[in-house]
Formats: sequence, structure tokens, C-alpha cells
Amino acid sequence: MPSLYVHIPFCQRKCIYCDFYSIETVTLMEGFLDALDAEIALASPVGDGETFDTLFFGGGTPSLLAPSELERVMRSLRRAFTLDRDAEITLETNPGTVSLEKLRDYRSLGVNRLSIGIQSFDEKELRFLGRIHDAAEAVRCVELAREAGYANVSVDLIYSLPGQRAGEWERTLSKALELRPDHLSAYSLIVEDDTPLARMVSAKLVSPNPVEAEAALYERTMDVMERSGFEHYEVSNYARPGFRSLHNSAYWSHEGYLGFGPSAHSFWRPVNGDAPLRWANVPALGRYCAELGRGELPVAMREELTRAQLCNERIFLGLRSTGVDLGNLEDEFALPADRLALAGDLVEEGAAVLEGGTLRLTARGYMLCDEIAARMMV
Ligand code: SF4
Repeated sequence: MPSLYVHIPFCQRKCIYCDFYSIETVTLMEGFLDALDAEIALASPVGDGETFDTLFFGGGTPSLLAPSELERVMRSLRRAFTLDRDAEITLETNPGTVSLEKLRDYRSLGVNRLSIGIQSFDEKELRFLGRIHDAAEAVRCVELAREAGYANVSVDLIYSLPGQRAGEWERTLSKALELRPDHLSAYSLIVEDDTPLARMVSAKLVSPNPVEAEAALYERTMDVMERSGFEHYEVSNYARPGFRSLHNSAYWSHEGYLGFGPSAHSFWRPVNGDAPLRWANVPALGRYCAELGRGELPVAMREELTRAQLCNERIFLGLRSTGVDLGNLEDEFALPADRLALAGDLVEEGAAVLEGGTLRLTARGYMLCDEIAARMMV
């Protein structure tokens, strides 16, 4: 089933590593919500006849929404689309932006999963990253989530900070596990272009962690998570049995999704069998509101995906997550013979396993995922 995504483009303060679109003020919230209502209503015919089974509020910082504002967005979405009654509804939450009452209100509006952006429990690292909260607020946020009745709580962490030692990362990881999350995402710190972090690196104020050090931290993470009973179901994602993110799993299995808000992306297979489409909204709140004010969709890029693009995405997304069904791929895209031979080599090298025709990377393969995907793609 397809998914819905809503991008809330506000943050209290930008973190130094972040390249997601957001601005550091909520004063434009009312105008944004008017535009969002308009966008959802305009896009409503696209989802005719479909039932959506996941909804994700990302950003930005969706937990800056007052419950009355979230209620308004939920009302627009429910008016325009059919949401499955058991839909997974996730809201990204930043420690320092929520109270028990606010989390309870979100829950009464249908939110049933919180993804809490903690990143680190080390005060020095939190300050370096530019986070707005300290470690105690991060712990409190998870406790509040449980107190408010959330049975599905995910925690986001970042590792491989410049100069980070194994012990420091392991302390953060075990602190997170002590809080008994149902799901954990651990991303290595990426130096994205045009961020304060990239400028610090250019000015030689900090040096990214060497690749070998990062690989060692990743290996350690996989080991700790597996021993703690988590399933490693995507390069950077771990879940207790039954708690995989349905929303992200839908992305990785190439399901359709409709995204709303500045910079949001969509991927959709038209019902008439035409080529699948991808489009992206303008990554600028002023233009987003102005275009919707004129009754136009705020689309900055739209493309029809070619068969080669679709095949490569299927390979890339599958290898990153639960595997690639080689039979399906062969039937749909007539994979060149050397790619099938490569699958055999990967199994022999211990980088992958073949289970019922599905090629799935092992822990060793995950470490080389980008490289392997590049070799497999057509
Ligand atoms: S809170 Fe999240 S979206 Fe906002 S700047 Fe930090 S990482 Fe980016």
C-alpha cells in the first residue's frame, strides 16, 4: 500500500551537519499550514481509490507543531485520502520540544509511533552537533513517550563524529539501549555540501573520521545491536521483532508515496500503467506558499523514470534493506547475465546470502553496500 509524508519545515536551530530544508523560526507557521491544506486538497485526486497505510511527519522538527496545528493537518489529510484504520503514523520528535501533555494530545490525534532524534548522550558531542537539548532531556523525552502510552518508540543516533573513540560511541549506544527503544537508527556523520560542518572541514577546523575508524564503529554497532535482540533490516536501521518502520520499509520496497511541504519528494505509479513518476517540491517556504496561493502545485522537478532507473533503484534499495528478488528483477528487467554471476560471487565471498531467490547482504556486505550496488546496477 502507498504512503504519505508531510515535511514540517521549521527548526528551533539548525544543527551543523543538517542539509534537510528547514528555517529557524515558526513565525510563518500559519501561512505554511494554509499552503499545506491547499497542496493536500490539490493532490487529492492522485490518491483516489487508494488506501494509505503509513503516514510520516518529518522535517524539520514536526514536534514544534502545537496539537491544534497537527489536528488541522490530520483533518486535511483524512479529507483528501483514505488512511488505513491501522495505519502507522510516525512523528519525528526532538527532545526539548515536547511535554507529556503534548505527546498525549498527538497520540489522541492518531500518532502511534515516535521517532526521537537524540543523536548522542555525550554533552560535548551534542554541543558540537548544535543540538538544542542535553542528554538528560533526551532521556526524559523517551520516558515521556512511554508515559504518554506510545508502544512504538524509535531513537536516532549519529556515530563517527570527528575524533570519536570507540568507547565514546559505545557509551551512547548502551545508554540508548538502556531506554529500551523498539527501533534504533544509527547513521554515520556525513559531511553534506553547503552545511556549517562542511565549512568547518574546508577551513580545517575539524577532520572527518578516517574510513577505517568509521567501519570499525559500524561493525561494533552491528554486533551490539544483534546481541541486544535487534534485527538489522537496513544498513542503518535496527528493530525489535515486529517493530520495523513500515514507512521506511515501503520506500525501500519501491512502494508509491505522496509527499507534502517544501522539499518533499513523491514517487507514484499511475493507474493507467504509464511510467512511474518522481517529483520534488520547491525547497523554499516563500515560493511554496506563493505558488499554492496561486492555485499551482509547488513542483520544482518532475521526471518519468526509465526502465534502467527503476531497475537500479530496485537493486540499490533492495541491497540496502531486506534483499533483491533476483527472479522478479530478471522477469521485469532482463538483468544481464554477468550481474547474476556477480550475485554468486557475493555469496561465495560471504558478502551476501541467497534465500529463496532473494539476494540479501550479510553484515560484511552491508559494510560494502554502496560498492556492491554500483557493481550490480545496469
Ligand atoms: S533538528 Fe533535525 S531537521 Fe532540524 S536542523 Fe537538526 S537535524 Fe536538521
